[in-house]
Amino acid sequence: MASGRLAIAATATFLGILGTVACSASSGESALAGDVPPTAAGSAPAHAPGRIGAPGIGDPDFPTDGNGGYDVDRYRLKIDYDPAAKHLSGVTAIEARATQDLAKFNLDLRGFEVSRITVDGSPAGFERFKDELVIAPAKTIADKARFTVEVTYAGEPKPVRGSSNLGTYGFIPTEDGAFVACEPNGAKTWFPSNDHPADKARYDFEITVPEGLTALANGELVGRPKSARGKTTFVWRESHPMVSYLATATLGKFELRQGRTATGIPNLAAVDPRYRAALDDLYTQSAKATDYWTTVFGPYPFSSTGGVIDDFSAGYALENQTKPMYGGFTPDGSIIAHELAHQWFGNSLSIKRWRDLWLNEGFATYAEWLWSEHNGESTVEKIFRGHYAAGPDAAIWKYAPGRAKPEDLFNSSVYNRGGMTLHALRQRIGDPVFFKLLKTWNAEHKYGYVTTDEFVALAEKLSGKQLDKLFEAWLFADRKPTEW
Ligand SMILES: [Zn+2]
Repeated sequence: MASGRLAIAATATFLGILGTVACSASSGESALAGDVPPTAAGSAPAHAPGRIGAPGIGDPDFPTDGNGGYDVDRYRLKIDYDPAAKHLSGVTAIEARATQDLAKFNLDLRGFEVSRITVDGSPAGFERFKDELVIAPAKTIADKARFTVEVTYAGEPKPVRGSSNLGTYGFIPTEDGAFVACEPNGAKTWFPSNDHPADKARYDFEITVPEGLTALANGELVGRPKSARGKTTFVWRESHPMVSYLATATLGKFELRQGRTATGIPNLAAVDPRYRAALDDLYTQSAKATDYWTTVFGPYPFSSTGGVIDDFSAGYALENQTKPMYGGFTPDGSIIAHELAHQWFGNSLSIKRWRDLWLNEGFATYAEWLWSEHNGESTVEKIFRGHYAAGPDAAIWKYAPGRAKPEDLFNSSVYNRGGMTLHALRQRIGDPVFFKLLKTWNAEHKYGYVTTDEFVALAEKLSGKQLDKLFEAWLFADRKPTEW
């Protein structure tokens, strides 16, 4: 993620938003007869020990995001969206594997009327508690069993609004369609999900829109779009593992340019007609940045690259897998390079806890600096010095980027001090080891998960140096570092 023309205000909190996702038994229609409320799920009620999936996946800073008790393998999303009525009707099939016996388990879903849920084809009971959808299958699912849960739902999508860190995110209706960018927890605004990055899955999308509109999702188009009775259906497939916040179904009027980068990676640029003049530049810059990053970070991890400019003024860009989304502005080369660096850092290599966000944003910010130097603009050293010149009382030194705060996740320290951490490291271990580290890091954790401890361990192993003090000073101390 990167801010666009509008600066992301880093001061106010979005605890208010988090408050609304907290599990509570105060709302929702009950479809179960006299059973325990899901607020008890985490504490395993006495009559069903260990058989109820947790309402959160275990991120201490986002306790109700995601869910426990199962792993999703694949989402099969069927979406029909009518922009004029702002009406979405959907059927989501989730193929998952139980990690414990499950008499009940949760999905995350914000708003919508849920009309029917089946588990392995049999109708299941369900309850709603704010953004938690609690499902009681007809028969307890055995530990390690594979199962498919299918949810039929409809209504007007309600994106998350008023987050001063991010403004509006999720499935956001626009004049001609929708802009869909979901970091950190907006997937639940358009499909029932295990909405936390700690559960990657593959995705199939079948998106139906009024004829004349285009639906853009992650991965590749499967077959040609099919039109019937005034509607067109687009089928997309993301065949590599993906975290939920990167899923998109941005739709509306779009102009497209399609081809391959110089090294042969399929490239698709799409712009709202209002940004017609930016189409060729988006296409060309995306191709150049993708190809350049393959030389610095290693092979491109996904099946295509590109980008989408839509007419919703989000004021930010998001690195949606294979298709970064630019919300209401023409991105410059630096932002394009940032979002495409995330295809390696954040998308292929993902975090399991939001507090580790510098592993995404610090690296993507450092990539911007590398891009600048590569293009003969400011050098990395000069950019680093510019940030380091901030006085000892500057806010950046009070916010430890190695522990991103849930109420201020996207603080500029996570970006800039995160990037500076990498530059301090580079100065300590030297260019050959540093650039070998970036490639080795990517190769070792491709499509998986990463932690700061693992990064420090690999840097120490490749360099043969003791680096704990350097990382402590740059990532975790609340004062200006002097270590490098
Ligand atoms: Zn970013």
